[in-house]
Amino acid sequence: MKKYLLVIASGILLFSCTNNKLSQKSDAQFEDFKNYFVEELWRINPSWASSVGFHKYDSILEIPSTEAMAAKMKAYELLDDSLKKFEENSLSGANKIDLWMMRDHVHSSQWYFNSFRSQEWNPSNYNVGGDFADMLNGNYDKLENRLHSINLKLDHVADYYKAGEAQIKNPTMEHTDLAIMQNQGSVSVFGDAMADSVKKSSLREEEKKQILQKMETAKAAINGYVTWLTDLKKTLKPETAKSFRIGKELFDKKFEYDIQSGYKAEQMYDKAVKRKGELHVEMSKLSSQLWKKYFGDRPVPADTLTMIHRMIDTLSVIHVHRDSFMSAIEKQIPELVNFINTQKLIYIDPAKPLIVRKTPDYMEGAGAGASINSPGPYDKNANTYYNVSPLTDYTPERAESYLREYNKYILQILSIHEAIPGHYTQLVYSNNSPDIIKSILGNGAMVEGWAVYGERMMLENGYGNNEPEMWLMYYKWHLRSVCNTILDYSVHALNMKEEDAVNMLTKEAFQQEAEAKNKWRRVTLSQIQLCSYFTGFSEIYDLREEIKKKEGAQFDLEKFHEKFLSYGSAPVKYIGQLMLADEK
Ligand code: ZN
Ligand code: ZN
Repeated sequence: MKKYLLVIASGILLFSCTNNKLSQKSDAQFEDFKNYFVEELWRINPSWASSVGFHKYDSILEIPSTEAMAAKMKAYELLDDSLKKFEENSLSGANKIDLWMMRDHVHSSQWYFNSFRSQEWNPSNYNVGGDFADMLNGNYDKLENRLHSINLKLDHVADYYKAGEAQIKNPTMEHTDLAIMQNQGSVSVFGDAMADSVKKSSLREEEKKQILQKMETAKAAINGYVTWLTDLKKTLKPETAKSFRIGKELFDKKFEYDIQSGYKAEQMYDKAVKRKGELHVEMSKLSSQLWKKYFGDRPVPADTLTMIHRMIDTLSVIHVHRDSFMSAIEKQIPELVNFINTQKLIYIDPAKPLIVRKTPDYMEGAGAGASINSPGPYDKNANTYYNVSPLTDYTPERAESYLREYNKYILQILSIHEAIPGHYTQLVYSNNSPDIIKSILGNGAMVEGWAVYGERMMLENGYGNNEPEMWLMYYKWHLRSVCNTILDYSVHALNMKEEDAVNMLTKEAFQQEAEAKNKWRRVTLSQIQLCSYFTGFSEIYDLREEIKKKEGAQFDLEKFHEKFLSYGSAPVKYIGQLMLADEK
């Protein structure tokens, strides 16, 4: 679920411990300020605004010039000053979390600009394709209005790329390649589909001509940027170019801002390394237990990891036929709901159905075989879809390899993660209130952590009948999250080499070579996001255990889940702070 930032909506209103008159006044003032804060956020981030469904600034293209960036930072500084005027202890629990999240967002934006400075080394920051594609394909407004915004926005594409070039000082080779590839792809946004839309629209002929001309200018500007980058790339040498590795200092800080965890990056890394060892022990026990059933009297490999690997490969062959991939997923949804209801794990609102559908063409190619597509904060009553790739275009080899990865066991865990009680259920809970801050500043580690936590929680409560096969495959899936964290930290902070990374992923996390190579590419282009799954999971799991210990026999799992989700998509450490305060 990559687009969580764009789609997560809000948290249920909390009951407040400090519900006196004074706090009511502060809360009312704070509500007003929140509205102002969001308006300002959209004014200074027009592209982000469009992506969450706020279309007032669609026609604005944010030019990445030094002056414009300085003005934006000034705006953030003023917001920061205003935030300081609120006394957090006079606010309700929900508003307190909002205040913390707003403050974190401002500080994070300042840090990105002043210290991380990817505007100088990541040329893929500059790309107009996505904005224009969203406007062309969106159905939030009639075609003529969208084209009119496109017309105005097109005026500044050339200035945009010129300003971008002026910012780039010391690009990494990897991000330069990425920028070349992605911008080449963006040229097609101004191709036949856009031209056809212009021609079939009821705009005046004059405006149609204007747009068609400006599209040519935009294409030339993008091609110009690609040429400029290609020449720049020739001057870069692996020994002297800036490394894609951001180093320990920036990694620690970025982890703090992006994850907003109670843990430090290094603590999470240590925790993940320890977890990997524990999982190997568990997987080894399960594989020995299953060996006879699948391999008869054939000798057990002396090397433990080899034994586990062979067991996993053997179980992976058990999968649905490619033609029933989608219907298998459709069938799982009511089964998951039924299990959760019988076990009383969390209330599932039957009035908010999840629609399983074939991934729309324009979203295909994103690489995910299944994903949740949920309404944004400005469009909450829209449907939530479980997009499934129908595998129709896959060659037999590719389909087989895909189906082995999403075999009988993993497919169930995938639906737990994406749908119920994972992303979809969390979204229904967070959609239950009009709270915009947690919706737009939603915390990715909480969102992914919840889905990863849901997998384990279901198995702990007997999903899959405690079959050793199910547990073994779950552990394999879980190892992916664990090793994502190890990989991210090792590569960026400890200088891990590609060969060692691929070795770890294939030998110790039992991944295919192709998956490991893709993961290597991802870690060279991104930082921290790979840590969000295991960090969020660990924090939620630890919080549950802590509350369980405090409440003893009183502990009620269903209540814990419902209360936890009622806070919306906030950082786990903030939710934990309020939940633990209620324990006293
Ligand atoms: Zn996810
Ligand atoms: Zn097969």
